[in-house]
Amino acid sequence: MRKRIVAGNWKMNKNLEEGKKLTSEVINIVADELNDDVQVILGTPFIHLDSVSKLLKDSPKIGLSAQNCSEHESGAYTGETSAAMLTSIGAEYVILGHSERREYFGETNEQLAAKTDKAMEHGLTPIFCCGEALDIREAGTQKEYVCQQLTDSLFHLSADDIKKIVIAYEPIWAIGTGKTASAEQAQEMHADIRTHLAGKYGAEVAEEISILYGGSCKPSNAKEIFAGKDVDGGLIGGASLVARDFVDIAKSF
Ligand code: 13P
Repeated sequence: MRKRIVAGNWKMNKNLEEGKKLTSEVINIVADELNDDVQVILGTPFIHLDSVSKLLKDSPKIGLSAQNCSEHESGAYTGETSAAMLTSIGAEYVILGHSERREYFGETNEQLAAKTDKAMEHGLTPIFCCGEALDIREAGTQKEYVCQQLTDSLFHLSADDIKKIVIAYEPIWAIGTGKTASAEQAQEMHADIRTHLAGKYGAEVAEEISILYGGSCKPSNAKEIFAGKDVDGGLIGGASLVARDFVDIAKSF
């Protein structure tokens, strides 16, 4: 069975003390309430990763993720963080290709292919984001658009490697807007993504890849969205900043 995953993307929120407090709260609630078949992941700002990693040392149920990494190995790239640095402090995952990075930092499908390779070379699991803007949804070409993102950035991978990737479908019009995709819209796109993966790698491989939904996911709507048979969990922004809400989402399968 595919892994069920609920990953928090804190984005650029929380100072260090606040981040540690949130982590401790999540650890406690997860230990008390969450059964083992859901993988919880915290995606913190770079500067908090090391501290959060230490707090998570005795919590194998909770994984640690960065929100980006460089496509370069090392060297003169001021302000960048390498995949090797991330693994050295205990990160296991890295969010790649978030729409905010694509929009505000100009990340392209080609660059994201290189980031994916570098992350995997160092044993990080990419949580690879895709998703369309509102104008594309209104034009009805969202499936082609999202599938192209995946083709351009991931389809050079071997079958063994693509199986290790987590995909997050995040329609841009649903991020931070309070307007979620309907459960039907989410399931439809997730099924289209899986079919696209099956077209390249075969159904057996496609069935193994976890596909998460992201965009205004909350405790009040997670159950309905996660009920879709191709929806394997969520990538959570705003609601991951409140421990109770975040773990309630993780309990929504
Ligand atoms: P919100 O849950 O705040 O809409 O953000 C979703 C997201 O971008 C997660 O990566």
